[in-house]
Order: sequence, then structure tokens, then C-alpha cells
Amino acid sequence: MISTTLLDWYDANARPMPWRVPPGQSRAGIKPDPYHIWLSEVMLQQTTVAAVVNYFTTFRARWPNVHALANAADTDVMGEWAGLGYYARAQNLLKCARIISTEHDGHFPSTEADLIRLPGIGPYTAAAISAIAFDQPSTVLDANVERVISRLYATTEPLPESKPTLRGLAANLTPTHRPGDYAQAIMDLGATICGQKPSCKICPLATDCEGLKQGISDELPNKRPKPAKPVRYGIVYFAYREDGAILLETRPAKGLLGGMMALPTTDWTETEAIEMPPINANWQALATPVKHTFTHFHLVLTVLTTTVVDVSPTRGWFKIPDATTPGKLPTVMRKAYLAAMRNRGWTAHLNHGQVPNVTE
Ligand code: SF4
Repeated sequence: MISTTLLDWYDANARPMPWRVPPGQSRAGIKPDPYHIWLSEVMLQQTTVAAVVNYFTTFRARWPNVHALANAADTDVMGEWAGLGYYARAQNLLKCARIISTEHDGHFPSTEADLIRLPGIGPYTAAAISAIAFDQPSTVLDANVERVISRLYATTEPLPESKPTLRGLAANLTPTHRPGDYAQAIMDLGATICGQKPSCKICPLATDCEGLKQGISDELPNKRPKPAKPVRYGIVYFAYREDGAILLETRPAKGLLGGMMALPTTDWTETEAIEMPPINANWQALATPVKHTFTHFHLVLTVLTTTVVDVSPTRGWFKIPDATTPGKLPTVMRKAYLAAMRNRGWTAHLNHGQVPNVTE
């Protein structure tokens, strides 16, 4: 049976993760902490395990339970999230923590139906939390699982149209025995052996795999070509005050990089950006723009810099210590900051590519 084969493989090959209860302990009845599973799953949306591990460890150390996170200041949470991207997730994380803390006495619900009502929890995350944290036979279907299932059953219908078919096939495979470990097993297989280039020779499911039998496993899953991403343009302003401070602003709560600290910037549009400098000064453009890709568009940012002595506004200036802690700016702003700093020849402040902490 495929689920039994996968569980046997997982027992010997599970990847260690700081939020995961290893299969040996799981079989002995040790349960994961739902707070850890929820936190990791929200962080893992659109992000890899490798990128998440350090963030998860930091959050767990600083806010060891959902009540602690619920009582955290928004700016502290947004600051620790900086660099992980998709910043609406951090806002929803806080909203969800506060609901769980105040309305559920700190206990996460165990069913997909109840989980999906919470902020920031969609169908995949609800299924993953329900399966991993509560050992429910929920069907998890992320990109890794879609890849495994489409190859296992040689499903040639392209994504995303094939999702309902894949979901049905994945549901049929989900066992009632150890469903939480099974969910992690199939995701691990898709993240390792059945990756973009499948390693079928060492795959525990090779004898069951229709895609391998038909010689088409490398080509699956078929995907409908995505439309090309548009390019947007903007201007970002790096104002340096001679006492060692830069001008930052908090982004509006709604929209891209919502609630994050950022350099002042114009709107990002598909035509040439219109200058909107935050202060009157002698602005100079860097020769090379900063480029960054978001989910739905490429961004080209012209970086304007200036040095001032003492200007209005009096608020919004943040000192740059030569710190060794990770930066508090979102990645695109970190790129602009680094470009401006390098342009000044201040590479000693750059801390191996990280933005130094900024403090008021
Ligand atoms: S045999 Fe190959 S294609 Fe099939 S599930 Fe295993 S790694 Fe994936």
C-alpha cells in the first residue's frame, strides 16, 4: 500500500525541522505543539524550509506561546518578519494569535472547517495544521504533493485545471493511521526525491509510479504557461542626515509591504514614476537601479540619495548603528539601502550583506 510504503520511508528519512516531532517520537505518542505547527506553516506559505528555520527559531525564542505573540507589539513582530516576504502574512499572524489567545483560551481548533475561519489560514494551511498538529486525515495539497501525485498517476491534464483531480487522488491515498506523519512524508518526498528532477532510482514508490512506467515522470506536472509578469517602475529615497540617521516611514497597513518600515518611495506604476521626494534636498540618482521581483510583477526602482544636516520632518529619522543583528527592512528596501550605502563607499557598515539594525 502506497501510504504504508511512504510511512516506512519517512520513518527512516524524515528531515529534521525545529517544529517537527520526529517519527520515532510520534509513534511513541508525543504530539507536536499546535502553536509551532501553525507558526511554521504560516511562515512556509510561498517560502522554503531553509528560509524559514531561522525565523521560526527566533519567533519561538522571543514569543514561546500564542499568548506571548498575541501580546507582542505590531512593530516588533513586523521587524522580526522583515526579509521573509509576503508581509500581509505577519499582519494576519498577529490577528490570528490575538483571536486564539482571547477567544479560544490559547487553543487552536483541530478541524479544517474551524481553522479556515481564522485570519491567514487558507485551505492548504488548514489541512496541514489539522493533519500535522492534530493527526486528522486531512488532504494536504501543496506544490510538492501535486508533483508527486501527478507523476504517480501520470496525470497529464495541466495545472491548475488538474487540481480537483489531484486532490481526489491525494485524498484516496491519505490513511487514517498516522495521517499527520503521512502528510509530512509525502511533502518530504516531493521536496527531496521527487523534486523538479525526480530521482526515481532511489524512490520508495518507484514500483507504483505510473509516470515512471510511461517514461514521462520528468515532464510532469504539466503546467499552463503563465503570462509574462509586467514591469513596474518607482523611485525610492535614501536621505542621510549627517548625525548618522536615515529617513524611514511605516508603510500603510494595506497593500504591498503593509505595516513594514521602509525607505520613502513613490507609487509603483507601469509608466515612468513621478518624483515625490519626502524632503526638499539635492537628490542624486544612483547609476544602477535596484531590481526586485514580486509574485505578480518585476519592480525597477531608481534610487535617489541625499545628505542633509538638519531638516524637517523631525520624526522618522533612525540612527544606523554598526550592528551585527539582521536587518529590519523588507528585502526590496534592503537592496535599495545596500545600493545607497555602497555608493557612499560605506561597505564597512554593511555587515556581510545584511542591513544593520535601525533604532530611533
Ligand atoms: S518514481 Fe520518480 S516520478 Fe515517481 S514518485 Fe518516485 S521520484 Fe517521483
